[in-house]
Amino acid sequence: MIKNAVADRMHLLEGESAFTVLARARALEEQGRHIIHMEIGQPDFETPPNIIDVGCKAITGGYTGYTPAPGYPELRQAVTDYAKRYKNVDASREDVVITTGTKPVIFYTMLMLVNPGDEVIYPNPGFPAYNSCIRFVGGIPVPLKLSAENDFRLDPDEFKELITEKTKLIILNSPSNPTGGVFTCEDILEIANILKDRPDIFILSDEIYDRLVYDDEACSIASIPGFKGRTIIADGLSKAYAMTGWRLGYGIMHPDLAKHMELLVINSNSCAAAFTQIAAIEALSGSQNAVESMCADFLQRRDYLTAALNAIDGISCRLPRGAFYVFPDISSFGLPCELFAERLLNEAGVAASWGTAFGKFGEGHIRLSYATSLDNIKIAIDRIEQFTKTL
Ligand code: PMP
Repeated sequence: MIKNAVADRMHLLEGESAFTVLARARALEEQGRHIIHMEIGQPDFETPPNIIDVGCKAITGGYTGYTPAPGYPELRQAVTDYAKRYKNVDASREDVVITTGTKPVIFYTMLMLVNPGDEVIYPNPGFPAYNSCIRFVGGIPVPLKLSAENDFRLDPDEFKELITEKTKLIILNSPSNPTGGVFTCEDILEIANILKDRPDIFILSDEIYDRLVYDDEACSIASIPGFKGRTIIADGLSKAYAMTGWRLGYGIMHPDLAKHMELLVINSNSCAAAFTQIAAIEALSGSQNAVESMCADFLQRRDYLTAALNAIDGISCRLPRGAFYVFPDISSFGLPCELFAERLLNEAGVAASWGTAFGKFGEGHIRLSYATSLDNIKIAIDRIEQFTKTL
């Protein structure tokens, strides 16, 4: 009855495997099983104390009401200073819209730019919300294949082939969820070069992991001359500052687009929480020591985990150059990746997402998040090794 009652478009929305696996893992824990959680993309660190402090003082200090819809001017200013410092992007306050996380910027961008029938090129494997939101607004998702052989970077020739008269938007996500791949500055320049004669195509650049890079610098396409006005940067505080539950993100875009996004905010959230916004000013403009120390821990885990996975017979894993995920190839065991992940959870007590949850080109892989302690990672490696010996 309800199934028939909901609007047709609701059947186009998809969930996220990480939350599905988490629910299954919790059910096993209730039965007394010990599970190592490597399914969820959430830093295992506390929000840095300087940010918590400012947030608490903001609540008691009266920051408890509505704010301007696009966010406090001071926070929008802090975002522009931050964008200059870490993304080499010149923006002004009018370009910035504060949102309740990075996800709304993705959703709003689709609502704002994509008409039914417009094509949107998106990374595959990639963050599930891309495909889901494109379909929800009637767009046509066009997958850009990212493969381990190419270090999960872009193949410029394949990219060129995907562009048609109907292409409206291209989604970039570097460093990437789920692969940990990073597009080099040369890759970004190549994309810009391909797009320079098509000013009608916009770019949604999801830069949520750009502070978590280990080998080279992340590069924003908005920093390339001529591209700022056609790029919507989506970013937020969830990952870099361990603030997933604070729900704070932002979009940086052409000021005329920002006015449209502001309308979407007014009609959905009104604004992000006032005290969270004040805490965000501290996060973006205060000491960055905590980000650096989290990054150093992630790097140590990445190196251990990648080497340990590669030492297991039948698994091969690229060294991820950013974010906090590894995306090993488990195809040699001959199981569909979803079944592999299901059995890994049920039989070995390691919770992981599976490759096709991020798109069809993820087949043959699982995603493990190393946003968990090195001790947990070591236990997981033992369990994965034992499990694979049974296959
Ligand atoms: N983009 C990517 C690529 C992500 O992995 C995530 C979170 N997993 C988000 C956006 C959303 O982050 P949030 O809404 O918490 O800022």
